[in-house]
Amino acid sequence: MAERILIVEDELVLRETLTYNLVKEGYAVSAAADGRRALELVREDAPDLVLLDIMLPGLDGFEVCRVIRKEHTVPIIMLTARDDVVDKVVGLEIGADDYLTKPFSMRELLARVKAQLRRVRLLRDQYARTEVSQPGNLLVFGGLTLDLDRHEVVLNGEIVTLKPKEYELLVYLAQRRGRVLSRDQILADVWGWDYVGGSRTVDVHIRWLREKIEDNPADPSRLITVRGAGYRFEG
Ligand code: CA
Repeated sequence: MAERILIVEDELVLRETLTYNLVKEGYAVSAAADGRRALELVREDAPDLVLLDIMLPGLDGFEVCRVIRKEHTVPIIMLTARDDVVDKVVGLEIGADDYLTKPFSMRELLARVKAQLRRVRLLRDQYARTEVSQPGNLLVFGGLTLDLDRHEVVLNGEIVTLKPKEYELLVYLAQRRGRVLSRDQILADVWGWDYVGGSRTVDVHIRWLREKIEDNPADPSRLITVRGAGYRFEG
């Protein structure tokens, strides 16, 4: 069955160009010209991916993204006309998965779309495999427990609140315990980004995770930096 993509874009020409190109690639496409309609379509169509313009009439893209994130893990790629919002977009504050700065080429857009859809499939397979090999779906590392069924992380008996990307990153690293993973590898697998220059995002999320799951974030014992190589989970 065709994967479903929701386009949220108020500029008619761009909306139609995106629709045309994505349909040609074999995706099932729905489109909205404003934020409210976008939220309706997310609920009705359960898309596999959302392309979301930031500057929209009424409810803007940031607000739409926040609302979607409260209920859905669907990958969201933001479309922006400005470079200076990038930090805000990829920060967990908004919860988008990737962004494209206008004007962008269709080739670039399609590459990003494919990367996000592949990332989600990888994640799904990973959970499916874990289900078979780990009774109860618990990963236990001393005082730290990851409950993959309930998407819950417990540290020393207390539930830790993680943003979706922090959770994904932690599960990803924990399932590869002891292995050194480069920033580029992590970026490709967890974010679905296969372009360079985004590795700062990994560092920022590791820092946030350390604040939440390390007994002493300044001297981590779980999320280890391997100088010149990347990160390793110890547990
Ligand atoms: Ca716009």
